[in-house]
Amino acid sequence: MRIYISVDMEGITGLVDADDVQPGGRDYERGRSMMAEDVNAAVRGALAAGATDILVNDAHGPMRNLLPEALHPAARLVRGKPKQMGMLEGLGPEYDAALCVGYHSRAGALGVLSHSFMGHEIEDIWLDGRPVGEIGLAHATAAALGVPVVALTGDDAACAEMTAWDASVVTVPVKYAHDRFAARLRPAGEAREAIEEEVARALSVPPARPSAPAAEATLAVRWQSASVPATLLGIPGVTAEDSRTVRSTGPLPALYRLFGVWMRVAASLTDQRPYC
Ligand SMILES: [Zn+2]
Repeated sequence: MRIYISVDMEGITGLVDADDVQPGGRDYERGRSMMAEDVNAAVRGALAAGATDILVNDAHGPMRNLLPEALHPAARLVRGKPKQMGMLEGLGPEYDAALCVGYHSRAGALGVLSHSFMGHEIEDIWLDGRPVGEIGLAHATAAALGVPVVALTGDDAACAEMTAWDASVVTVPVKYAHDRFAARLRPAGEAREAIEEEVARALSVPPARPSAPAAEATLAVRWQSASVPATLLGIPGVTAEDSRTVRSTGPLPALYRLFGVWMRVAASLTDQRPYC
């Protein structure tokens, strides 16, 4: 059984503040070791369920948060950026299941460190008219590649967002949001045990392949700055919904990659880098 793990940082056990998750932040060094502990718990759960091959993609910010030597030796690591598929780099139909570790809720949600891919620059995203953030987009893109997302860890808001998108996904809350930068924490040891147990449970029955996706999907993004959509309209296939919102239609894995290009354009026009 081949398992793919996309690991973000905002939804990691114990972390609540930008200082915990941004390089240079006062507690970032501690944050990255907490990140490794959550990932390793998921790796142990996958191994217990019979995984024979595990790929971990560091999907946060600089994408060099996980120190290779801190990662469970059974897992291989994708590290660094740029990556054409960003948070889903390396995922393909050869994987039997995908796990989202340390994920967070979308922009506008009252969840810990909630946002969608960029700081304030991305106000909203819709996939086929349905509001979506990093969670739903990862799930839908993985499904389009033929891979089911079977488990997610994060705060309770991220878990609720996953359940609303697909109630069959096993979710593991590691903290309970009081606000965007405050949460009631689950004790670290208990949270990691829960991750290990729930991942093993999610993989205990062979994951069902997602049903074939629609040939095309439509992705719409509302940006904070009107300069971004004005520039994106120069890309063939991109159309305007209004002065802040652009959309494009196509097969989903390609659309996810195109969205990565949009973010690089947005980053070049604003002072915000995509940080996922
Ligand atoms: Zn992140």
